[in-house]
Amino acid sequence: MKKALVVGSGFTGCMFAMMLREKGWQVTVVEKAPITGGGVRTFFHGGHPFTYGPRHFIGPDSSQPAFDFLSQYVPMRHLDKINLSYQDCDDAFYNYPVHADDIEKMSDAAQIKKELAELPEETVAANFEEFWLGRVGRTIYERYNKHYNMKAWQLDDNRQMDFGFEATVKRKPLETGSRYEFHTGHINAYPTAPDGYNRFFDIALDGCEVRTSTEIERYDLDKCALHLKGGEVLTGDLMISTTSPDLLFDHCWGELKYVGREVFKIVLPIEHVLPKDTYFLYYPNASEQQTRVTEFKKFTQHKSPNSLITLEVPSMKNKLYPTMIKAEVDKAQRYIDALPEKVRSVGRMGIYRYVDIDDIILQGLEFRKEL
Ligand SMILES: Cc1cc2nc3c(=O)[nH]c(=O)nc-3n(C[C@H](O)[C@H](O)[C@H](O)COP(=O)(O)OP(=O)(O)OC[C@H]3O[C@@H](n4cnc5c(N)ncnc54)[C@H](O)[C@@H]3O)c2cc1C
Repeated sequence: MKKALVVGSGFTGCMFAMMLREKGWQVTVVEKAPITGGGVRTFFHGGHPFTYGPRHFIGPDSSQPAFDFLSQYVPMRHLDKINLSYQDCDDAFYNYPVHADDIEKMSDAAQIKKELAELPEETVAANFEEFWLGRVGRTIYERYNKHYNMKAWQLDDNRQMDFGFEATVKRKPLETGSRYEFHTGHINAYPTAPDGYNRFFDIALDGCEVRTSTEIERYDLDKCALHLKGGEVLTGDLMISTTSPDLLFDHCWGELKYVGREVFKIVLPIEHVLPKDTYFLYYPNASEQQTRVTEFKKFTQHKSPNSLITLEVPSMKNKLYPTMIKAEVDKAQRYIDALPEKVRSVGRMGIYRYVDIDDIILQGLEFRKEL
């Protein structure tokens, strides 16, 4: 029987382990944390289910196969979800994406309309700032995107973010019509079970050897081996790594940059904190540290006279978001290209791209076809 080693038991590690087991491989999963599921695991605080960050299933129509796959194991409920953006200059909450009706309520409506009217149909962009200026003009960019992005990615200047944009930017028409129409255009869903996706992790890892709280001291990539703390060596015919690719090479070309989040949980003595169908709020102002506030009850439908919200504050204390800076993306690619054939680097950290749950499932389904 062929043996596979999987590093990490987040959504990616579970998905790939499941595909390997289905195809008859013997699978050992090595996880440094005491529990499986990584960032998508549901925890409970005072009985309120929550995850670190909202982690709902969201994707374009092309994600339907991923949604169908997941729904076999985790029944899902579709969401009519609205996002609001708090703008301190007006002390008002506006829709996000930007809605034409909201412009009328803004203190600088005349300037915004002038900029929108003068915006060329098409421009060229080399970075995040130019991209959004080309899409919506300066005032909307400054209200919704500028400080949000600088906070979220811990940048001094959004022109540093120079990867992941089409060079040709098309002017973006503002949303019009019903709020639900534009907020629910994609597949947008959440598990119905109180413990979220946790059932999927158990099913996916069924039949695998799972080593939690296990630290890897060294990667011997040519021998497809993991040297564990304590001296044990695990070997396989294939290694699937979901950790950062620089770790596999002991950072020989430098450490890859990531941004993390601190997540603060707060229970409030009120049944619903946010308005109906508003699941989270964005905070795009320079005057606040948080990027987002989530009311979990909206996703989980948990019943309680109280409600749990989380506050996400960008931080360099953990590694969650790969940066969209070309020099970093190129560095990551250099590591990935240097991997021997028997080692695959997959998932969000593994490919150094901001991928969502739907992308990870699609990556796993493609991998199954190769086995
Ligand atoms: C705050 C936040 C909110 C998000 N919200 C959404 C959302 O709403 N919808 C959506 O679709 N996507 C969302 N995402 C993205 C999505 O959750 C991720 O793409 C997905 O969780 C990635 O899964 P993963 O297994 O690759 O990584 P992780 O979930 O980070 O899991 C990695 C696992 O590997 C383990 N590990 C790491 N290094 C090692 C090592 N050296 N040795 C052993 N184990 C190791 C970790 O302990 C962890 O268990 C969000 C991401 C973040 C950060």
